[in-house]
Amino acid sequence: MGHAFECSECGNPRNMMGSCQYCASASPPSVLVEAIELNIKRGMPTVEAALDTLTEHLRAAHELKIKAIILIHGYGSSGEGGHIKRAIHEALELNRYADRVDEYFYGENVPYGSPAYHELMKKRPSLKRYLRHFKASNAGMTVLLLGSGYRSA
Ligand SMILES: [Zn+2]
Repeated sequence: MGHAFECSECGNPRNMMGSCQYCASASPPSVLVEAIELNIKRGMPTVEAALDTLTEHLRAAHELKIKAIILIHGYGSSGEGGHIKRAIHEALELNRYADRVDEYFYGENVPYGSPAYHELMKKRPSLKRYLRHFKASNAGMTVLLLGSGYRSA
């Protein structure tokens, strides 16, 4: 898929957050994508740590005007994966992220090729290449559409 962010000073690939590993620039990176994938279950964090990771990435992505996050939270009826998924759903439904998230779509509700999927693609056509590799009804992910936040100046 190539890299998503480039250092705005030296042009090397870098992460969305932190500083450039090549030149140590702390300036915001150049953004080459409209959507990013965020795996918050990587490293098997606690629920609280996973929610904190999401909050930090939402803030950074919003500032960089990223339009969507494909959030990988895992699933399962037991274990930390299931807890993280439930906590994410609950936080979204309680509007905990409403200042940055305009809309959200649970993976199980937007199976590839379904009417709901096509509706989502109409809103954010650029998501197509990200969602193509997910299996139908992927309950382990949620699509977050970020608000522009810059509508009124
Ligand atoms: Zn750099």
